[in-house]
Amino acid sequence: MNLQKDASLLDLNTFGLPAKAAFWVQASNVPDLQKLLLQAPKPLLMLGGGSNILFAADWPGTVIQNTIPGIAISRRFKNRVWVRCGAGENWHGLVQWAVQSGFGGIENLSLIPGTAGAAPIQNIGAYGVELKDVLVKVETLETSTGKRKVFFRKDCHFGYRDSIFKSSHKGQYCITHITLSLSTGQHKLSTGYGDISRALAEKEYCNPALLISAPP
Ligand SMILES: Cc1cc2nc3c(=O)[nH]c(=O)nc-3n(C[C@H](O)[C@H](O)[C@H](O)COP(=O)(O)OP(=O)(O)OC[C@H]3O[C@@H](n4cnc5c(N)ncnc54)[C@H](O)[C@@H]3O)c2cc1C
Repeated sequence: MNLQKDASLLDLNTFGLPAKAAFWVQASNVPDLQKLLLQAPKPLLMLGGGSNILFAADWPGTVIQNTIPGIAISRRFKNRVWVRCGAGENWHGLVQWAVQSGFGGIENLSLIPGTAGAAPIQNIGAYGVELKDVLVKVETLETSTGKRKVFFRKDCHFGYRDSIFKSSHKGQYCITHITLSLSTGQHKLSTGYGDISRALAEKEYCNPALLISAPP
């Protein structure tokens, strides 16, 4: 365990608050994260991009920054793919990858700050689309035991900016991967939201599906 003592969190939260953690460490794979959950000094705090967290005081235990990487197609169907993404991937990077690959479903969620792993916590949403619309499953480790547990969409009890990870199960699971179901053809774009429909009308885009690049 490469724990850094008395670490500044200043650059790890977008409010730029000058908090400190008694210990800080990055976890870039599941076995390391399992070990940290069992052995790192408590209390533990899982951190992604720090864009939805307010450090009102120094953290007395270990802040674990989840940096698990990787974006890959895990299953192919006739008109859809499942994409499995590591929790540490930048969310907007995932959106860019999907659009450039010709996969539809998360384009409305571009530019939301943070990591893919934090996206299910509050069921991120924008412009009429929410993560729950495309989410297949969430892979986690139980914080107290390090045991793997998979939550399928229905298990997550998603609501408006809400899920079990933010309410009844808060702090109990570390998200390691998410899997999304994205369209590969016949994209059903959500363009009804006010600002989007106005912008498309101004640019006279009648068929915005064509703006998603064709699959390679
Ligand atoms: C300028 C700005 C614009 C925004 N716009 C939107 C928007 O349009 N729509 C929207 O929905 N949100 C928006 N947000 C909120 C923010 O982008 C989301 O909440 C995002 O999911 C936070 O990701 P993060 O990686 O920064 O999470 P963090 O701030 O690092 O963590 C947030 C919470 O999730 C927990 N957490 C993080 N990663 C994990 C993990 N791997 N496993 C378990 N728990 C974890 C943390 O412990 C913490 O409780 C915006 C925020 C900002 C600052």
